[in-house]
Amino acid sequence: MNPTHEVFNQPEPLVNVNLFATNRAMQAALQFNAPALDTAPLHALGAVVGSGEMQAHARLANVHTPQLKTHNRFGQRVDQVEFHPSYHALMSAAVEAGLHGTAFSAKHQATGHAHQLRAAGFMLFTELEPSILCPISMSYAVAPALKDNPAIYRDWEAGLTSRAYEPALKVWRDKTGLTMGMGMTEKQGGSDVRANTTRAEPAGSDAWGQRFSVTGHKWFFSAPMCDAFLILAQTANGLSCLFLPRVLPDGSMNQLFIQRLKDKLGNKANASSEVEFVGASAWLVGEEGRGIPQILAMGTMTRLDCALGTSGLMRQALSIALNHTSQRKAFGKTLIDQPLMKNVLADLALESEAATALALRLARSFDRTGDAHEQVMNRLLTPVAKFWICKRGSHFAQEAMECLGGNGYVEEGGEGVMARIYREMPLNSIWEGAGNIMAIDLLRALRKADAAAALAHELAPAKGMHPALDRLAAQLPIRVEEMASEMEARRLAQDVALAVQAALLAQTAPSAVFSAFCDSRIGGEWGHSFGSLGAGVDFDTIIQRAMPR
Ligand SMILES: Cc1cc2nc3c(=O)[nH]c(=O)nc-3n(C[C@H](O)[C@H](O)[C@H](O)COP(=O)(O)OP(=O)(O)OC[C@H]3O[C@@H](n4cnc5c(N)ncnc54)[C@H](O)[C@@H]3O)c2cc1C
Repeated sequence: MNPTHEVFNQPEPLVNVNLFATNRAMQAALQFNAPALDTAPLHALGAVVGSGEMQAHARLANVHTPQLKTHNRFGQRVDQVEFHPSYHALMSAAVEAGLHGTAFSAKHQATGHAHQLRAAGFMLFTELEPSILCPISMSYAVAPALKDNPAIYRDWEAGLTSRAYEPALKVWRDKTGLTMGMGMTEKQGGSDVRANTTRAEPAGSDAWGQRFSVTGHKWFFSAPMCDAFLILAQTANGLSCLFLPRVLPDGSMNQLFIQRLKDKLGNKANASSEVEFVGASAWLVGEEGRGIPQILAMGTMTRLDCALGTSGLMRQALSIALNHTSQRKAFGKTLIDQPLMKNVLADLALESEAATALALRLARSFDRTGDAHEQVMNRLLTPVAKFWICKRGSHFAQEAMECLGGNGYVEEGGEGVMARIYREMPLNSIWEGAGNIMAIDLLRALRKADAAAALAHELAPAKGMHPALDRLAAQLPIRVEEMASEMEARRLAQDVALAVQAALLAQTAPSAVFSAFCDSRIGGEWGHSFGSLGAGVDFDTIIQRAMPR
C-alpha cells in the first residue's frame, strides 16, 4: 500500500492470452472460407503474439525507434539503419510464422489455402505490433510481380519464402532469409506515379536480363534495410518496373543513399526513408513501359494487408476495451454493465466482426486463382475492403480508446497500446492508395462486364434474411450497371462493402450480430457515432461473442 492511498479499481492488463483461441469472429470466418484449414499453426501463433514477452518487445521497438547511420567514423558512407534488438525479435517471430513470402512456396500453395492461413496469422500479429509488418507485407506481396523476371525469382525464391530472418546486408546468395520493399512515391506525385522523374538508362544485360543505371529519388521508401526493392523509373519506353538490390551480385553496395528517416505520427518501429539513386544498378521486371500494372501486382497484395491489418488493430482495440470495461466500476456498476457502455461495446464488436469477415473473404479470393467468380470478386473487393475497413479504423480506435477514459490516452505500459493503435490507424488508409484512389479504382473494376452479376451472386445467400439488405442488394447491380460518377464513388464503395459484410455475417455470425449490423449500417437505425444502436438489439449476445478471455 502507498502511504497516501490504496490503488484499486484498476484492471488487470490483457496479457498471456491466446489471441486466436479467443477470436470467435476469426474462427467463424475461417470455418466459412477455408473449412479444411488446419488451425494448429494459428493456435501456436496466437499464444506467441498474446504473450507478455512479445508485448514487451513491441513496446521497446516503438520506444527505441530506428536510427539512420549515413557514414562510419572514417567518413565513408554506410547507409544503414540501426534497430533495437526487440525490432529484430519481432521480425524473427513474423518470418518464423511464415507471414512474409512463405505462402508462395510450392508446399504451401499445394494446400489450397496458403493465403488464408497467412492472412489470419497477419491479422493476429498486427495485434502484437503492426509497424514491423510493413517489410513483412512487402516481402509477401512481391512474388507475383517478381516472377515476371524468372531468373531473379529463381535466385531469390528460397530466401523470400524461408523461415529464417537474417538482417545483415550481404549478397543474396550468402543469406538464408531475404526481405523486399517497394519504391514508387516521389516528391511530385505518389498517387499519380506517372509523374515519376527517376530515370533508368540501359547498362547492358546479364543472367538477370536487361540491366539499367538508375538516377533519381524516392520520397517515401519504407524499410530501406530490405535486401532489394521493386521500383518505378522512366526508361526510353516509359515507366518501367525494376529490381534494385541493396548489395550487388559482386558483393559491392549498390548506389542507393538514404537521405533521412521520416518523422512519422505512428508506425514508429518501422523505418521509412527518403532515398536517392546515383547510377544504381537495377534489372527490368516485366515489359518496359508497363511498370504500373507490373508493380500493381504487388500493390494488390499489400492492399489486402491494409484491410487485414486494420481488422487486426480493430480486434486489438476492442479486446482492450472489453478487458478494461469488464473490470472497471463507475457509478455502482462494472462499466460493461452500464447500458450506454453496452451500446458502445456492441457497436464496436459489430464493426470488428464485419471487418474480419470482409478481410478474410477477400483473402479467400487470393487462394482461388482458377475460379472465375473469385477472380471478379478479388478485383472488386480489393479496393472496397481497403477503402472501407481502413476508413473506419481511426473512428473505431478513438471510440475504443475512450472506453478506457484517461488511461486510454497515455503512452505508458499496457494501456498505452491504445495510443499506439490510434496513431497507426490512419496509415493503412493513406499508403498503398489513399481513400479516393481506392474508390476510383472500384469504378475501374466495375467496368468489367461481369461485375454486376458477380456481386449479385455474392449477395444471393443472404436473400430474404433482412429487408434492408434485400433493398440494398436489389439496387446495387443497377447502380453498378448505370456506372456511378467519380463524385459518387466513395458512396458506392461504402455500400458494396456494407452489403458484402452483411451477406457474410448472415452466413458466419449469430443472428443477433447479423440483424443488428443490418438494422444499423443498412436500415438506418443508427446515429453518427458508435454507441447509437437501437434499444432492441441483443447487446449481451454480441458482447459475449467478442470477449477476449
Ligand atoms: C509511413 C509511410 C510509408 C510509406 N512507404 C512507402 C513506400 O515504401 N514506398 C512507396 O512507394 N510509397 C510509400 N508511401 C507513400 C504513400 O503510398 C503515398 O503517400 C500515397 O500513395 C499518397 O501519395 P502522395 O503522398 O503523393 O499524395 P497525393 O497523391 O498527392 O494524394 C493526396 C490526396 O489526394 C487524393 N487524390 C489523388 N488523386 C486524386 C483524384 N484523381 N481524385 C480525387 N482525389 C485524389 C488522394 O486520395 C489523397 O487523399 C508511404 C507513405 C507513408 C505515410
